[in-house]
This record gives sequence, C-alpha cells and structure tokens, in this order.
Amino acid sequence: MRLSKLFTKTRKEIPADEVAKNARLLIQAGYIYKEMAGVYALLPLGLRVVEKIKSIIREEMNNLGCQELLMTSLQRKELWERTDRWDDKEVDVWFKSKLKNNKEVGFGWSHEEPISEMMRGYLKSYKDLPANVYQFQTKLRNETRAKSGIMRGREFVMKDLYSYSVSEAEHDKFYNSVIDAYLRVFKNVGLGKKTFLTFASGGAFTEFSHEFQTLTEAGEDTIYLDRSKKIAINEEVLRDDVLKKVGLKRSDLEKVRASEVGNIFSFGSVKSEQLNLYFSDKKGQKKPVILGSYGIGVTRLMGVIVECFADDGGIVWPKSVAPAQVHIAALHGGEKESENLYVELQNNNVETIIDDREISPGEKLNDADMLGIPMRVVVSSKSLENGGFEIKKRTEKETKIVNKKELLQMLGNSN
Ligand code: ATP
Ligand code: MG
Repeated sequence: MRLSKLFTKTRKEIPADEVAKNARLLIQAGYIYKEMAGVYALLPLGLRVVEKIKSIIREEMNNLGCQELLMTSLQRKELWERTDRWDDKEVDVWFKSKLKNNKEVGFGWSHEEPISEMMRGYLKSYKDLPANVYQFQTKLRNETRAKSGIMRGREFVMKDLYSYSVSEAEHDKFYNSVIDAYLRVFKNVGLGKKTFLTFASGGAFTEFSHEFQTLTEAGEDTIYLDRSKKIAINEEVLRDDVLKKVGLKRSDLEKVRASEVGNIFSFGSVKSEQLNLYFSDKKGQKKPVILGSYGIGVTRLMGVIVECFADDGGIVWPKSVAPAQVHIAALHGGEKESENLYVELQNNNVETIIDDREISPGEKLNDADMLGIPMRVVVSSKSLENGGFEIKKRTEKETKIVNKKELLQMLGNSN
C-alpha cells in the first residue's frame, strides 16, 4: 500500500462533533468516515482491520464446526410478533419501514427469529442436528445514545452464531466450547489480559447469560471483577444469592468500567416452541430444538482496541489486527532503498505500507505514529550511512539500526 496513492489523508484537526476517542482517532487517521451520529463507513485501512478481526473469529467458528451464511436485513413483521419482539415497547431499537403495498417490514437488529424460521425447513429429524450457523452481518439499531463512536453504532458489524441442539446436554457442551473459543478470539485480537467472562442477567431461559467485558474507561458498563479468578459479575445481577451461586465473594470484587464485546445466551426450548421449531427424535417423538445465540461486536471490538492501546501519538494496533505489519518512511536519500525494501517485503508476504509522498520528514513520522502500524522503518541517507534501516516498534521509544537480512529475519519470526 502506497500512501502516495491512498485517497485517504490523515487530519490534524480533531473532529469537533465527536466526543469518543476511538472515533476521533479513527477519523483523523482515515480509517473511518462519519456519515452521521452513530453511522460510520469503513475506509480502506479500516476495512482491513475489520477483515483481520473477522478472520480471527471465523477461524474459531469454523474450528467449532459452525457454518457461515448471510441472512437478510429486511425482516418480516409476523415472525417477530410470534415471539413478542415486534412491538417497540418490547424492543426499543427497531428501525421499521413499509413496502409499497403498505406491508410493514423491520431492519434486522438481531436474527434469532428469521434464522430459526429458515432452519425450520431443514431441521426435521435428530439426524439433522446439531446444526450451528453464523454470519457477519450489518445490524441496524435505533440506539438512543450514540456518543461512544464505533463502540455504539446505529449500524454496526456483528458476528452472530446460532446453535440448534437435540438436548440440554448437547447444548451445554457446545455453549461451553463457545466460551473457550470467544476467550481465544479476544486473546488473539490482543485483548486477552483485559477481557473477562461476566455473569449477566439471563434472558429467556437460563438464570444467567454470559458477557465478555473488556476493561476500558470508555465502556458503558460497570462490572464487578474478581481479578484472581478472572471472572466478573454484571451490575444487574450483583446480589448475595447470585454471588454465592457463582462462587464469588463481595470483598474480592473490584468495581470497574468495561465494554461488552460479546454476549451469549441460552434460549432453551422457549423460542423453538414460539416458532414451532420441532424435530423428531430416535423414537419418532416430536421435541423442541434447544437454541443458543452468541454475538460478538466486530466494529465495537475495533473501537475498544483503539481505546485500550492508543497513546498521545495516535493509534497503536496489536499485530494481529493491524492493517499492515511494517510502515516504511522513505526519507531524503533513502527513496531508492525504500522502494527495494517495499518490493522485497511484499515478496515475503509481509504486509507493508510505504510513505512515498513528497512531504516533510516530520509529517511522515507523525503520520506513522497516527496510523499505528506495529513497526516503523525509516530509510534515509543517514540510516544507510549507519548501516541500513532504522527500526522502531510503535509501542517503544528506542530506535535501532539493522541490515536487510536482520530485518527480514525479525519480521519472519514475528509473523
Ligand atoms: P449493549 O448492552 O451494549 O447495548 P446488547 O446487549 O444490546 O449491547 P447484543 O444484542 O447482545 O447487544 O449484541 C451482541 C454484541 O454486539 C454485543 O455484545 C456488542 O458487542 C455488540 N453491539 C451491540 N450493540 C451495538 C452497537 N449499537 N454498536 C456496536 N456494537 C454493538
Ligand atoms: Mg448484550
């Protein structure tokens, strides 16, 4: 990627209409474009980050044997009426519209109902189960507050997974494997040390649902964390009986701000009964399918990562989600060597950004910080005189001169 060709530009001025750090930085660095409050477009660099996060999630989902699909945004009213989730009094984030013939439709804010109705056509017998399906989909929610940047969008990308099992036992086993997979996802995007499994209020069936909460002052939630047990409890369910049940002590808990990056639910047979989703078991008896629902806020995660790691210079991406691994700043006298290095890194499959614009060295170095690529390589007549390339990790202050062989070796090892 050549910055001379990239149409987006970094901006010095902080977007005046934006209070959230994540959105301010992402707009300034050219990762996202604000269409209106709570509605952001993903620009080339931002899209790359989102795709990185998606592939980390996709790998875990596929390893669990889940199958990817893509449902529609337009939704039928009558489906949601069956589960009593159409009325604005029940669900206060609906965007609704009408077809030309005046028939009402809704814009998908979640997909349990339509996906289960679709699955009903396929899940007839115990032989068709279990079935686990997921998607990356743009959800639309008419959120009241949109002050958290991309952490609370009115339009945002979610990964949602739905599980269909023959029994509680089969469901529980899968549910627990999703917990493990989610914890790996958060570790792999760089948030492992900050993200905690959290007991929350239950929803339709079980006593609890589980949230995955990442510690950040920018979060909208308050949780009570037991750091040694690495488990938290949501404010809504903080009661003595609940603490006892989950094995936590009030005196061990620390009150902290966090952002909900994931949420998983058991619906038991409640939704299946409402939606008439039954299968015939080995004896030919009709039984309701056991349903679970599992979400990760993909674009919220991107915002949380920015909030957690950014410094005064700008964004700091963990390697696994960075839009590139290396940022070459071609300074005076280093233009030719920069080009050679760029080609060579690309041939070695190292994703690289080269700043080949005709701007001042200071601007190039500031932009390198702002964009947040894990490793900066300065190539100038001075660095070449000193023996090669001046490297600096985005998270560190020190620079170091290395030759090309050493650089390639380092990048090979770090991938
Ligand atoms: P919240 O309590 O933050 O409003 P929710 O409980 O309504 O979220 P879910 O329906 O559980 O959200 O959605 C699954 C995941 O999608 C959430 O855990 C969160 O990470 C993400 N998410 C929910 N709402 C938004 C939003 N408005 N913008 C971005 N991500 C969101
Ligand atoms: Mg939730």
